[in-house]
Amino acid sequence: MNAVNGKHLRHWINGKPHDGPAERRGDVYDPATGRVSGTVDFAGPTEVEAAVAAARDAFPAWRDASLSKRAGVLFRFRELLTRHRDEIARLISAEHGKVVSDAAGEVARGLEVVEFACGIPHLLKGGFSENVSTRVDAYSILQPLGVVAGITPFNFPAMVPMWMFPVAIACGNTFILKPSEKDPSASIRIAELWAEAGLPDGVFNVVHGDKVAVDGLLEHPDVKAVSFVGSTPIARYIYETAARNGKRVQALGGAKNHMVVLPDADLDLAADAAVSAGFGSAGERCMAISVLVAVDPVGDALMDKIAERVARLRIGPGHDPRSEMGPLVTGPHRDKVASYIDGGRAQGATVAIDGRATPVNGGEDAEEYRDGFWLGPTVLDHVTAEMDAYRDEIFGPVLSVVRVSSYDEAMRLLADNPYGNGTAIFTNDGGAARRFQNEVEVGMVGINVPIPVPMAYYSFGGWKASLFGDSHAHGMEGVHFYTRTKAVTARWLDPSHGGVELGFPTNG
Ligand code: NAD
Repeated sequence: MNAVNGKHLRHWINGKPHDGPAERRGDVYDPATGRVSGTVDFAGPTEVEAAVAAARDAFPAWRDASLSKRAGVLFRFRELLTRHRDEIARLISAEHGKVVSDAAGEVARGLEVVEFACGIPHLLKGGFSENVSTRVDAYSILQPLGVVAGITPFNFPAMVPMWMFPVAIACGNTFILKPSEKDPSASIRIAELWAEAGLPDGVFNVVHGDKVAVDGLLEHPDVKAVSFVGSTPIARYIYETAARNGKRVQALGGAKNHMVVLPDADLDLAADAAVSAGFGSAGERCMAISVLVAVDPVGDALMDKIAERVARLRIGPGHDPRSEMGPLVTGPHRDKVASYIDGGRAQGATVAIDGRATPVNGGEDAEEYRDGFWLGPTVLDHVTAEMDAYRDEIFGPVLSVVRVSSYDEAMRLLADNPYGNGTAIFTNDGGAARRFQNEVEVGMVGINVPIPVPMAYYSFGGWKASLFGDSHAHGMEGVHFYTRTKAVTARWLDPSHGGVELGFPTNG
């Protein structure tokens, strides 16, 4: 199906929309209606080359732009993003499906990274040691890498790119974003705001597309570093391919986030948290809680409280302020997620809440939303570690409840799980919480906090199969990822220099 009079998203290269013809295009959907709302150009080698050339040509001047000039552009960009936050949220909601308030939240979390990057003059300070040897000084300089690329997933079309490019650009790099082809509009609006903020042409570029565009970036010799966020199989591929091509790479992958509820926990708090973190954004968050680990004897009471809360949730189109949860991103994804309901039952789970029966609140426009990609909140109880519903990253509104008899059994479950993105423990026992934070092999830990997304000045990243590479995103790890350190040893000649000396330089 092709869009009739729909929007047409083009690449953004060298400060403007790219006007070359597209050999391939993809459809963009409105998930609430299930209809195509526009098309997006897909980049081939020619467009990737054009974007890399623009970024390469822009690099020398941007690298040499003063820190205060760079910070000035970032401050203006921050103001523009703040002003256009709701507009960007509506663009996201219309293509992703999440409710507008949730989309505004993701823009706000991205803005925090922009604010962090506004402090770049401080962040790029190197070290200085006077007199490391007699009248010899040593110091370090942090320099940008050159052209760097970011490849991002559908579920946070504004926030995840903003984990990357504010820091990369502030450090003096030029950037090429390959956003998800499923919801590309936010990236183009952001590119326009960068231009309005005074960012020189070519410093921020967007190429749309699929594997062809990604492979073009991974293989291009002028792309010096790649940041990726997406599913684990693709993250592994990006990591291996980029590394093989000599690039610096950080590749954040999928997740299966467990929330452990100990017997002494506040069960109302835990139930609120499980429902919020399980079904917010229809479970399409890398930090969503997808496994609830109920330590005996809390299981039954917790299930009752969760059921009460789920019954009150309102499912509907993202632009309706009364909606709490929108549709899933595409029809095939909704079908795959829904398949875990019958699949879970066949493997022995109890379908406590079946989201296929949840009504969609379309109000007077109910007919308009009949073919949307809907699936209501679903709870599978008595899930075990052998079941597909436990093993796979479902990435939708399906919460699996695993019942265990002890804290130690809960910890074994987490230790055996291949993912290590986020986790949470709910308890009133400080000692148990402290032991949990110490023992658990997960990168981001919440204590009575279900979605512990780190602030911009900490870094975001998981462990195990949730991250390939050694740098997490944003914070000081982001600054480290997007710079190379140069160590300088300097001696300004004075009358005491000692002539030829073949021995290895030591301090004296
Ligand atoms: P995805 O892996 O399908 O796609 C991510 C990006 O890779 C997109 O830009 C896509 O166009 C590109 N891509 C897809 N297939 C490719 C291929 N074969 N070769 C090269 N590039 C390819 O992920 P998605 O469905 O867009 O997003 C959801 C996934 O992202 C979930 O697994 C979720 O957990 C993960 N995610 C992780 C984090 C994190 O911080 N760890 C954050 C957000 C999302």
